Amino acid sequence: MKSQDIRSKFLSFFEDKKHSIVPSAPMVLKDDPTLMFVNSGMAPFKEYFLGNAVPKNNRIADTQKCLRVSGKHNDLEEVGYDTYHHTLFEMLGNWSFGDYFKKEAIAWAWELLVDVYGIDKDILYVTVFEGSEEDKLPMDTEAYGLWKQFIAEDRILKGNKKDNFWEMGDQGPCGPCSEIHVDIRSAEEKAKVSGKNLVNKDHPQVVEIWNLVFMQYNRKANGSLESLPDKHIDTGMGFERLCMVLQGVQSNYDTDVFTPIIREIETITDKKYGKDTKVDVAIRVISDHVRAVAFSIADGQLPSNTGAGYVIRRILRRAVRYGFTFLDKKEPFMYRLVDVLSEKMGTAFPEMKAQKQLVENVIKEEEQSFLRTLDQGLVLLNRIVDETKGTTVSGEKAFELYDTYGFPIDLTALILSEKGLDLHEKGFNEELQKQKNRSRAASEMSTEDWTILVEDKDEGFIGYDTLEANVKLTRYRKVVSKKDGEMYQLVFNVTPFYPEGGGQVGDKGYLEDAHGDVVYILDTKKENNVIIHFTKNLPKHINESFKAVVDAKQRHRTECNHTATHLLHQALREILGTHVEQKGSAVHSKNLRFDFSHFSKLTTEELQDVENFVNARIAGKLPLIEKRNIPKEDAIADGAMSLFGEKYGDTVRAIRFGKSIELCGGTHVKNTSDIWHFKIISEGAVAAGIRRIEAITNDAVKDFYSENNNLFLEMKELLNNAQEPVKALQNLQEENTHLKKQIEALLKDKAKNIKGDLKNELQDINGIQFLAKKLDLDASGIKDVSFELGQQYDNLFLVFATENEGKALLSCYISKELVASKGLNAGQVVRELGKYIQGGGGGQPFFATAGGKNPGGIDEALGAAKKYVV
Ligand code: ATP
Ligand code: MG
Repeated sequence: MKSQDIRSKFLSFFEDKKHSIVPSAPMVLKDDPTLMFVNSGMAPFKEYFLGNAVPKNNRIADTQKCLRVSGKHNDLEEVGYDTYHHTLFEMLGNWSFGDYFKKEAIAWAWELLVDVYGIDKDILYVTVFEGSEEDKLPMDTEAYGLWKQFIAEDRILKGNKKDNFWEMGDQGPCGPCSEIHVDIRSAEEKAKVSGKNLVNKDHPQVVEIWNLVFMQYNRKANGSLESLPDKHIDTGMGFERLCMVLQGVQSNYDTDVFTPIIREIETITDKKYGKDTKVDVAIRVISDHVRAVAFSIADGQLPSNTGAGYVIRRILRRAVRYGFTFLDKKEPFMYRLVDVLSEKMGTAFPEMKAQKQLVENVIKEEEQSFLRTLDQGLVLLNRIVDETKGTTVSGEKAFELYDTYGFPIDLTALILSEKGLDLHEKGFNEELQKQKNRSRAASEMSTEDWTILVEDKDEGFIGYDTLEANVKLTRYRKVVSKKDGEMYQLVFNVTPFYPEGGGQVGDKGYLEDAHGDVVYILDTKKENNVIIHFTKNLPKHINESFKAVVDAKQRHRTECNHTATHLLHQALREILGTHVEQKGSAVHSKNLRFDFSHFSKLTTEELQDVENFVNARIAGKLPLIEKRNIPKEDAIADGAMSLFGEKYGDTVRAIRFGKSIELCGGTHVKNTSDIWHFKIISEGAVAAGIRRIEAITNDAVKDFYSENNNLFLEMKELLNNAQEPVKALQNLQEENTHLKKQIEALLKDKAKNIKGDLKNELQDINGIQFLAKKLDLDASGIKDVSFELGQQYDNLFLVFATENEGKALLSCYISKELVASKGLNAGQVVRELGKYIQGGGGGQPFFATAGGKNPGGIDEALGAAKKYVV
């Protein structure tokens, strides 16, 4: 069965069981501070499990792109070495939100695997939770009883908390789980060792394919468990592992998910897969990592220096380095795999097909820049090797190379071993640990449980229509972090405060109670669909109602920038072309930043056109036309633009100004004329094929012009209020150039005269042409004179001094022949004579200079110079 059919069979099976089929959410999470990437199928549905939102259908199924490269689930180091862990993989899942539970989940999983896919039940094992004393939980006899109907009891294994109790994080919904494992070894091997003994033992042919999680508890901050009112089902099946089983192969990499990529790597690198272990690992690493990197770029997460972008950059670099070391690829090549990837996966994931060009460009540039780093690192490593005494290179040196230059440690170790040297690994690991401790301490944070004051499912946002409202506090909690100290997070029944999202900053403002007590709201964010207000203190009268007031001025400025961002987006697509896609946006009160895909720098003319386009729409006084809660399909049919990497609900909000229509949750001005004016401040590159425009609107433009005007007036005054200041400035410049030329010529003449005079003053002392003298020349003049004389004599010893603005300068020139024959050294001379002028310096044996702060010592210094030649 082809992988595409395997995927669609899963989805249609659950569609028949009344599940809604939804597309994969983007891999990068936006409103979850505990998680960077989607690492399991349930992550995009967290808000449902937490009861913060209600799904339209309480049965859902999908295939979800997951990335396990950081945090609690991190498989990165396994990838390439084993045959069944990936960085990016697809997780097929079916969900019940407070609907069906264990009975249906188990029966359907069995039906699908055995009856639909036709897997021989004699290769299957299942596990159930054995219970935990620590958590005072009994064995999951319910699941055991259900499995018994389908599978022989000696194939039902009991598992401990580590394997059979699933937790979302340190806190939150959790529960026992049942895993389904396959044993795909040969009959011969099965006869030797029973599969039973290999389940959950990291055997590459006895692997878990599906995990059925029964969410029935909530883990509190103090570690205790409470029962959940609604019980949920969360299942996850590894798509690539399922393909391995159904295609009768022994490795995920031998399925049609990977073979086309591997063939392409073979062609590009001229290496064969399956002949040499090291080459095989490298090929697996690359075929895996290119998927992770390509999909994350398509989802809007570009490689960068921080956060999620840095994780992606490191994955890409890991692949490049395997190619560099084991496949001899010293030039970019991974970007060439994007073609087959988009060919293979573009149907199931159209975002890849649509953005192929961009993905290729970004990967290629990343590869190039890392290969340059590798080159530099090799030079530095060679230097370290040269400086090393003995046979062991210190861990600190290797760490510096790793930390500052991004030079991978395994490559360092490999190169050292080729040179017969050892790496002090323990020292390296200690440095690494120290760094980890430092960053952990910086990001450490503790979160208390919510204190619930009022049960309220409907904590809605009313800030599109009002900036002030009477609110009740429904829950709050304390969070403590190194960065911000102690803070409170408040949730209200309704709120006019806009939570950070869609690029727009969160609102600030204050809360006031009937007693006149005021608490400032410093920021507003959304977390798993709950709007959280940050304050330094807890309000005094938490059970009373408050007047919640948004800082209107900041909000208005932010709205001007947000609406201008939409107009800018429209302008870029009109003027540059529809290849322009939004790749990031930051809307603040002071300015806006907009990243978009485009291949070249914008010309001055294009920038002017863009600015004019936006300003024309501001002048056109276009009213805001807002449609809330309309079906996404209707909005798209109207011409609204949706963005890759954005997670949309079933219903959306469409924002329209003239012909600009976007799906957007942000806040906007009522009429474009509110913006007053739009001005681009800068344009530049952020990555290959991604440009960034920064711009300002409204008051900021007024400030900008008035500052510029003041600057202009100041300059004009300096030009004696000339009628034509530009002309006056040009005249000054011309005059200046002319004067410079004259001075240069004069100085040349002067040096020539001095040189002539100096020749006559040379003294012959013991066959050395000696002169020590104070000159009226600058440092470069002295150097020129010394070197010119040096060309005419091969036995010179010159010490010159000069004085300039209260400082003294000494220089010494010694012909190279003398340096060699007499062992003289100009560097040493200036260091010694430098003492007279209270200074120091150095240089080369034949020419050196010293500066000092005591010109009064010049004569003495010159007097002392003779001792070197007599
Ligand atoms: P394993 O013990 O094999 O790492 P897991 O316990 O981490 O698996 P779950 O977190 O239960 O797995 O994920 C559900 C399913 O997703 C697994 O049964 C497996 O089929 C698949 N899966 C998990 N991690 C990976 C991975 N890194 N690459 C590919 N598939 C994976
Ligand atoms: Mg795992």
